[in-house]
Amino acid sequence: MPCPPPSGRPRPCTPPSSSPSLQSGPYRQHDEVAAVAGNPRNGRPYRTLCARQRSLGLPCWICGQDIPYEITGPEAGRHPAAFTLDHLVPLSKGGDLLDPANARSAHRRCNSRRGNRLTVRTPGTSRRW
Ligand SMILES: [Zn+2]
Repeated sequence: MPCPPPSGRPRPCTPPSSSPSLQSGPYRQHDEVAAVAGNPRNGRPYRTLCARQRSLGLPCWICGQDIPYEITGPEAGRHPAAFTLDHLVPLSKGGDLLDPANARSAHRRCNSRRGNRLTVRTPGTSRRW
């Protein structure tokens, strides 16, 4: 059985980088990178993760109650029952801010009450039978 001829043509058409002014200004940094360096929660990956987690419509993983997802905008910033993105492993314990597997949906009040503790008291599951 003959091998098919390699069809990979070398592509000479990579555009020449036309950015001679890259180093022209003192603040010529990539905006996103600068934002992430300052506060990762302002970065787009984090907001995307928030939106994705919110779209799952899950109940609060701490208390098990439904989350009123209709609360959005400025009100969600102070409403105790509003959706917040919590992390299974807190960031202070080495959890990944941007890992979807580490993301959990939580009420604002539950999230802040839990703080940085790793263990969560779930009613009814305190004993193993
Ligand atoms: Zn809750």
